Amino acid sequence: MKLIPLPAFTDNYIWMLHDGHHALVVDPGDAQPVLEALARFGVQLQAILVTHHHPDHTAGVAALRQATGAAVYGPQREAMPEPLTRLAQGQQASSLGLHFQVIEVPGHTAGHIAYYCAAVNGAPLLFCGDTLFSAGCGRLFEGTPAQMLASLDALAALPDETQICCAHEYTLSNLRFARAVEPANAALADYAAAAERLRATQQPTLPSSMLLERRINPFLRSREPDVIRSVQGFDASAHDEVGIFAALREWKNQFR
Ligand code: ZN
Ligand code: FE
Repeated sequence: MKLIPLPAFTDNYIWMLHDGHHALVVDPGDAQPVLEALARFGVQLQAILVTHHHPDHTAGVAALRQATGAAVYGPQREAMPEPLTRLAQGQQASSLGLHFQVIEVPGHTAGHIAYYCAAVNGAPLLFCGDTLFSAGCGRLFEGTPAQMLASLDALAALPDETQICCAHEYTLSNLRFARAVEPANAALADYAAAAERLRATQQPTLPSSMLLERRINPFLRSREPDVIRSVQGFDASAHDEVGIFAALREWKNQFR
């Protein structure tokens, strides 16, 4: 099975899986890069998985459905290009002989979902949209900090070797903030050097892994003593775990 991030717009990735005959894509905000990839690999689109309603994740869905007849899956409670199969927590989307389990991860949007498959090429795989980014997380447009913290906790419970497929290449800018939060984190410094090298030649920093994210992502580390101390330097009134997480997210919003 081939896993390919198709670049779209300025920093989106439309993830594609194909087996040489059939393909699925996740969050096609633009149909064109998908149609080109289908032609290049000589594969037929079987399924489209959508994580949330933002146009940079959905605007190519109708054209792709029309061109290919692919089945469309998406969240239960968001405005979506109809028709589609709506999926709630624990339900599955199946394509290419793979079964993707839906995890509801509200926060970035109210009905955001992620798709988890227990084994793709021997390791688990997660399509997490705009919920988890490498070294960061999505902005809270519709959900509360408590919801986003619970959503990230659910993702962080997945196995170490889970391949993390995020919908944007935000890694370098996220790492600048992460290093301000945890200047003494050696794993973070190592990863920043590796990510700089990849981006210098326009290579994706993704997929990441859950083991790496638990070591370097401040939004998965908001209960670590060093992170709490740093956050309280930004907002001395932050105390309980939701308050610390909310202040961390607010600090990132203001960080330049
Ligand atoms: Zn979004
Ligand atoms: Fe997005």
